[in-house]
Amino acid sequence: MHQVTLAGLTVDTRHFIGGERVASPETFESVSPIDGAVLAHVARGGSAEVNRAVDAARAAFPGWRDLGADGRREILHRLADLVERDLEQLANLETLDNGSLLRSHRRGVMPRVAMNLRFFADWAVEKLHHPVWQTRGHDNVVSWDPSGVAALITPWNAPLMLATWKIGPALAAGDTVVLKPAEWTPLSASYFADLAAEAGVPAGVFNVVQGFGAEAGAALVAHPGIARISFTGSVPTAKAIARSAADNLTPVSFELGGKSPLIVTDDADLDLAVELAVEQYDNAGQVCLSGTRLLVHENIADRFQQAFAAKAQQLRQGDPRDEATQIGPQIHRVHLERIQGFVERATADGARVVIGGGPNDELGGLYFRPTLIADAKPGSEILTAEVFGPVLAMQTFASDDEAVTLANNTEFGLAAVVVCGDRDRAERLTKNLVAGTIWVNCFFVRDLAAPFGGSKKSGIGREGGTWSFDFYADVKNTVYAPTGWKE
Ligand code: ADP
Repeated sequence: MHQVTLAGLTVDTRHFIGGERVASPETFESVSPIDGAVLAHVARGGSAEVNRAVDAARAAFPGWRDLGADGRREILHRLADLVERDLEQLANLETLDNGSLLRSHRRGVMPRVAMNLRFFADWAVEKLHHPVWQTRGHDNVVSWDPSGVAALITPWNAPLMLATWKIGPALAAGDTVVLKPAEWTPLSASYFADLAAEAGVPAGVFNVVQGFGAEAGAALVAHPGIARISFTGSVPTAKAIARSAADNLTPVSFELGGKSPLIVTDDADLDLAVELAVEQYDNAGQVCLSGTRLLVHENIADRFQQAFAAKAQQLRQGDPRDEATQIGPQIHRVHLERIQGFVERATADGARVVIGGGPNDELGGLYFRPTLIADAKPGSEILTAEVFGPVLAMQTFASDDEAVTLANNTEFGLAAVVVCGDRDRAERLTKNLVAGTIWVNCFFVRDLAAPFGGSKKSGIGREGGTWSFDFYADVKNTVYAPTGWKE
């Protein structure tokens, strides 16, 4: 009843609290986007389970803190070893639950899960130092002290990868954790809890409460006993979380949506530009970082559009477990209909569908055709709101200044892609773009040491390298006087 065998793994679908499995009176279904199969019935938590999890995490905190960065590193590396041991099964489980490509789970995502743990565990030991400096002979000594319980709220588009991007630094920093995974993709986190126990993560240090955002999620972020909230998801949810956090003045780290530009200048390598633009359909467009607005210089716009359409229409859509598939299904029917709504409103408003434009009728289910929209009205919804599906919109520009103005003309500021043939020109362009990350002639090169986050409504704060520890830890300065010593 509480356990289900999927992809060769036994997944316990109850919460994981204080090292034990805890059931709830009610459950919710986890449904596969591939074929609509009900994969599991998962415990539906609320404030009772959240309270219990926060109590467990608080009780476990002193022991985990006092273990020190070296002791924590050993355990986190063991946990990473176990992720690697079960990598093939985890990749399959995640694909069943969220519909992303199996080959990318195998080769990119799950190796990254292990790396998230190793990287931050090592960073805490090897890199988390600030040089001592003097003020009138006094030494300033900076330390990063564990801060308490970190509440982690994660989305469904890359469930375990985005969860461990928070779990890794939080645990490495000496915090204990309560994780609330997304209700559309609860399974990998449930299994991960067993791996944590097997790796020797002490009871209560890592807890998982399953359930809906408005129930378990809301109860968790409102809890006065948590020290940090790290959230990845949508802007409206971030606003609700910020309101709860305000009551307790709990520090938040938010990574939210985007409507990122991909700028192609008229001296760009056209093949590269097309290749990078087509990559924006990765994960069926369910990537916050996607450059969904193609801003192309008017001199090359026709050539670009033709080459892009030809390449995009060759993308193979289908079962995400098939090695040849390049675009899988959307996560959920509700989401598919949301994407469809965006396209319908855009065309009703005068925009033109260049390719795609609706669900893939041959495949049925939750497959939406890779879509390109052109001729949308300036300021219209399709140019400003996040669709989070395989829907790109193209605009043209006549000068680089105009490109920057168009690029910045949104409430978001997560990422930008610039495809350009000249370094000086690229530097001038990037200088005035508002974005947390800019890729020039490349896409998705993500170093865990680099700051990551969004400007404007795309987020609050940065994580990555020491920036992660600046958030999860209490940064402390201790000042030692030169006098007063007995020796
Ligand atoms: P998406 O549009 O990506 O589904 P959400 O921001 O609604 O975005 O969901 C991301 C995560 O936030 C999920 O784990 C969800 O359960 C959680 N969540 C949703 N609403 C709330 C809330 N009011 N408080 C806390 N967490 C929430």
